[in-house]
Amino acid sequence: MSERKRATVRDLRRDNRSVLLTSLYFDQPRSRQDLSEATGLSPASVSNVIRELIQEGIVVEAGSVDSEGGRPRALLQINPGYGYVIGVDVGETRVRVELFDLMMTEHAKADYPLAPREHGVDVIVGAVVTGLAAVLANGGIDASRVLGIGVGVPGIVEHGPEVLVHGQTFGWESIPLERLLRSGTGLPLDIDNGAKTMSQAELWFGAGRGAQHAVVCLIGSGAGAGIITNGRAHRGSTSSAAEWGHTTVTAGGRACRCGSRGCLEAYVGAEAILDRYGLPLPGDDQESALAALINSYATSARAAEVLDDTARYLGVGIANLINLFNPERIILGGWAGLLLGDQMLPAIRAAARQHSLRHPFAGTLIELGHLGPDAVALGAATLPIERFLNGRPHQRPRRGFA
Ligand SMILES: [Zn+2]
Repeated sequence: MSERKRATVRDLRRDNRSVLLTSLYFDQPRSRQDLSEATGLSPASVSNVIRELIQEGIVVEAGSVDSEGGRPRALLQINPGYGYVIGVDVGETRVRVELFDLMMTEHAKADYPLAPREHGVDVIVGAVVTGLAAVLANGGIDASRVLGIGVGVPGIVEHGPEVLVHGQTFGWESIPLERLLRSGTGLPLDIDNGAKTMSQAELWFGAGRGAQHAVVCLIGSGAGAGIITNGRAHRGSTSSAAEWGHTTVTAGGRACRCGSRGCLEAYVGAEAILDRYGLPLPGDDQESALAALINSYATSARAAEVLDDTARYLGVGIANLINLFNPERIILGGWAGLLLGDQMLPAIRAAARQHSLRHPFAGTLIELGHLGPDAVALGAATLPIERFLNGRPHQRPRRGFA
């Protein structure tokens, strides 16, 4: 066989393998016959690839089902312990590191709260590196068993010759984050914007499952979004698409952390909400202060006014997404988005209805994320999983080097 033919056969095998692995990953356990029907691959191809995957320990048999009039059919599933992945959420209020197995069951977690506006690159890199060692130790997993690390960060992540993070509100300008993290880990790294990693988590496992067109809104201290069109993330020319928090809702309005005025984030981000309220609240961090503000809705006219305004601005921001992108679903997540949505989703929906065109609004579900405030870390951990399913793994990590 010529080298070219050999390469073609190799590519075809890899494609079949990726198609089967992905199909089984999202719907299991299933029999070889189910997989053949679902993927359109011939029974012989399915058998060949599955034999390979079983030999490698990636797929295991998990019982059997009776078939009509024939032999029982073996059910197949992914072996969750084949490998592990780590998801990191670099948020504005904390760094969170979580260790998952291949089927995304959590095995260990480490949390490092950040002081307000304490976002020095060395502080963040230190927290991530400490967290990686902590989850491996607590989970009892050797670094050699980790397929990769995904990191979700605020700001724009540019994937050029080296990964650069532009976090204007974070005070980060062209930070070579991958290179900096290399000082503390030899494991494969994937870095992306936190709202984008959260949207992948909701799309794979949560409120976005099955949607082809969705926008996932992340509200924490600030606001961001991930836009899914035709089942894929919309990134733009330099990956900065979906900087929803810095779209303008009031020309010449409140000053935003980005330097502009009237941005959505300057009204609906937790930092901005607490700032607009302007009075002391119990709790020593933003999360407990925002929860206290929401709890005082019924007893404080000022709290009610600030929160009603927040719901209106959020509705306007969502209406803009509906008119621009015609999504099937808009999913509200992030710790602050979930706190606000829990209490105010009807008011947010009403404001979105008022400010969007009737036809696209009628076709859009607006709901809360299903995966809770950990969805950014979970989503970050899907980055190495995606690489694994697509059959383009990084180099296997060096043994014993976390
Ligand atoms: Zn802004």
